[in-house]
Order: sequence, then structure tokens, then C-alpha cells
Amino acid sequence: MNSVNAHKNSNVQKILKLLEYVVCPNCHGKLRYDRNEHKLICENCRLAFPIVDGIPVLLLDKAQKLED
Ligand SMILES: [Zn+2]
Repeated sequence: MNSVNAHKNSNVQKILKLLEYVVCPNCHGKLRYDRNEHKLICENCRLAFPIVDGIPVLLLDKAQKLED
């Protein structure tokens, strides 16, 4: 494992911990972390929230609509 991946994994651990506390700003439901996209997903609203520098950006105007 190179140092870039190690850094990314430690961010993932932080994000998984944060998921216990954060909710969707639209429906206040649980979010899930998408490892491939590195985003937080609300399945209810079909929204993807970006993660910038290891911090989830839970703003509706930053969220992306998920395609079916
Ligand atoms: Zn939602």
C-alpha cells in the first residue's frame, strides 16, 4: 500500500465515523458512503453529497442528483 492510499483510508475511517452523526439536510434520513464515488448518498432523495478534504459537504446546492 502506498502513502496516498493509506491517507485515503484514514479519511474513509473518519467519514464512516461521521456517518453515525450526520443526516441528509433535505429529509434528515441516514446517509451512506459510496467508496467508488467518494460521496455521501441519500437514497431517499437520490442525492449525492461531495466530500472535500475529508469533510462531507451537506449542502443542497452542492448535492448532485443521482441518475437512475
Ligand atoms: Zn434525503
